[in-house]
Amino acid sequence: MNKKFLNYLWILIYILMVFMPLVLLMILPKPDGREFLREVSVALGFLGMALLGLQTIPTSRLKFFTKAFPMDTIYTIHHGLSVFTFLVVLAHPILLFINNPETLRLLNLIDAPWRARAGVVAVLGMLLLVVTSVWRELMKVKYDIWRWIHDVLSFLAIGLALYHMFKVNHYMALTYQRVIWLVLTGIWLATILYIRVVKPIIMIKKPYKVVKVIKERGQSWSLYLKPDGHDGLEFEAGQFAWITTESPFIFRENPFSFSNSSDHEGNVIAFTIKELGDFTSKIGGFEEGKTVFVDGPYGTFSMDEHACKKMAFIAGGIGSAPVMSMLRTLADRKDKKETYFFYGNATWESIIFREELEALEKNLNLKLVHVLERPHEEWQGEKGFITADILGRYLPKDYQDFTYFLCGPLPMINAVEGALHTLHIPPGQVYSEQYEMA
Ligand SMILES: Cc1cc2nc3c(=O)[nH]c(=O)nc-3n(C[C@H](O)[C@H](O)[C@H](O)COP(=O)(O)OP(=O)(O)OC[C@H]3O[C@@H](n4cnc5c(N)ncnc54)[C@H](O)[C@@H]3O)c2cc1C
Repeated sequence: MNKKFLNYLWILIYILMVFMPLVLLMILPKPDGREFLREVSVALGFLGMALLGLQTIPTSRLKFFTKAFPMDTIYTIHHGLSVFTFLVVLAHPILLFINNPETLRLLNLIDAPWRARAGVVAVLGMLLLVVTSVWRELMKVKYDIWRWIHDVLSFLAIGLALYHMFKVNHYMALTYQRVIWLVLTGIWLATILYIRVVKPIIMIKKPYKVVKVIKERGQSWSLYLKPDGHDGLEFEAGQFAWITTESPFIFRENPFSFSNSSDHEGNVIAFTIKELGDFTSKIGGFEEGKTVFVDGPYGTFSMDEHACKKMAFIAGGIGSAPVMSMLRTLADRKDKKETYFFYGNATWESIIFREELEALEKNLNLKLVHVLERPHEEWQGEKGFITADILGRYLPKDYQDFTYFLCGPLPMINAVEGALHTLHIPPGQVYSEQYEMA
């Protein structure tokens, strides 16, 4: 099926699932004598509930979804929609209070009925969810701990909001009205069950063993894994997987791009990982035979996903891992497609894959441009960050026909996207993989 059509189809299904319950509940038998503001408040409550429950789906790594949209787009939408959902939910009690200030007494958790208590705690839970997610780094909350907070608060908010809705019982008294919400709740629960129970079981049944760990430049390591008792997985060069050495039920996995060729012989997979924090600093100490669990492949950041006649890769530091996978794949395929690689690093010594890239430049139709932030004195090449000027100096005249792949930290992606915009590259020819998701 055409990819664009599939994207629109998913967006349509999503919109239907958000608005359908509201429409069905409110057009059919309507209680008399309700004030307008109260009706709007109830409508926003239903809308908020549908949005809240559906937030479980995009980030659940369901293959049909991750094939349609890039993972970072999914997370960006998830972040934006979460704040929007909170505002919609918050508007529900505010309108109720404006309509009838006496209802303010429902905020008193000591005297209020359980249905109101559940509603108030659900909104507070959502507030905490938004605050800890948006300002996690500022609040110095570690990623692992934040994930637990996020999951507990999400379950709490959804569960309490559902309890509140069923107990308040407005537009919920008829069987079909209850069935709509029960079906929706079933879909949300099935999604949670899949990601939290089924997925970890699949991962445990298909473990991998470390075959070697190689020290690379730039404080990074290449980790080679072999499937243990199964055929392994097939990936497209440029995609990534989530890996963990703990039980997959603990949900402490980290995402890494495959760095080996997708067309290599055998079923070994490789990742190249920069030491950065708790998990990544342990890679160098992994011993041969250690068990690793892998969930993947994911992502649409791949030359095989898009029709690319000529390509330009732009990466910073460890962002070269998926680029390396694509270049190694081109080498295995003996593909002499015109290719450029603009590679930004702090210093000459920290350039990961430096020697292999030089060899690939000779074997492929590849032009390699190093850009150094802190070059040594004799450095004759490009300095600073990757800018429109630097790109313009090396790219050929027909650079607008190229497909661009950007990979690295968010500030770098934003800067390079700006540079490509200056060069009038159509956004549809630019694909990016951000190394920050949450
Ligand atoms: C799609 C994708 C592909 C990536 N590919 C590579 C790669 O090939 N090589 C590489 O070295 N790095 C890659 N990264 C970055 C890598 O996932 C993080 O550097 C790593 O997870 C940090 O873990 P830590 O426990 O060592 O560091 P911590 O100190 O715990 O975390 C440092 C920062 O890394 C981020 N982070 C930590 N855990 C996660 C997680 N589970 N999910 C998302 N972000 C997290 C957080 O923003 C955190 O602030 C990729 C990231 C993404 C999103």
